[in-house]
Amino acid sequence: MNQLSSLIVCPDCKQPFEIKEENFWRCKNDGREVRVHEGKPVFTPMPETAHVYEKVERGPDQGTVWRQANWKFLRDQIEGQDKNALILDVGAGHGDFAQIFAGRNHLAVDIIPYPEVDLACDLGECVPFKKNSFDALVLMNVLEHVYRFHELLDALYGLLKPGGSLVMAVPFMIKTHQAPFDFYRYTHYALADLAKQHGFEIALLEGYYDPIFFIGEATRNLRFWVLPKLPRFPRWLGRGILILIEGLTSALKPLVGNGFVKSPDAAKNPAAIGYHLVLKKPLRSSNK
Ligand SMILES: [Zn+2]
Repeated sequence: MNQLSSLIVCPDCKQPFEIKEENFWRCKNDGREVRVHEGKPVFTPMPETAHVYEKVERGPDQGTVWRQANWKFLRDQIEGQDKNALILDVGAGHGDFAQIFAGRNHLAVDIIPYPEVDLACDLGECVPFKKNSFDALVLMNVLEHVYRFHELLDALYGLLKPGGSLVMAVPFMIKTHQAPFDFYRYTHYALADLAKQHGFEIALLEGYYDPIFFIGEATRNLRFWVLPKLPRFPRWLGRGILILIEGLTSALKPLVGNGFVKSPDAAKNPAAIGYHLVLKKPLRSSNK
């Protein structure tokens, strides 16, 4: 566990835990006890239906085009932070973006006590940090998995120092994933309204666009979800046609170009794969 663990405090009285045993932490002030699982305090019980995912190797050039765009966006945002900035990665999972935080003052939280996180907590339910503690909060592909997102956004606003940044990625035209914990897709109109409603200023709101991606999504959908249900002959014929489509797609790609990032108004394309946002807590902020 990271030396920044002193930032983790009793959610009730916001004082440090003075009693830290192997299996529990206890607050001397008010007796609040927290279970400790493999060295990590677990503040809220894991939802019974939650899936614990296997670790997938991630990197700047791995995963979907959306993932790669996320990587570049987050790396640029974190590089722009002061070297002493305190950063909290919310919904960090197995640390998909952990390499970006190497050498940084960084804590990771998830609702599941994965080996890569410092604590397990649903921040929408319980906040085991002092207010105004962090320079940057990271929320990468998490908001769509949070059913009670207003509570989470309020908690995140409280945790940021005035002038601090909430760095977010939210998918839009991405199929359901991590079922059944996938609840929402937000348009950029909703994201802008939500940000303002929760007191943030919008420093950046960009879409990631890549029309060729949708052809790949369509062929993968047919290959995995449709063709296997067909009788043998149409299945084989279908596979042959898919290979042809994939070849034609490769030929189309140099003509239409790679994916790009642009403000939704400038892009004039209604089909963003997802959105990247930087929301700032105003320097003169109400003390929510
Ligand atoms: Zn306490």
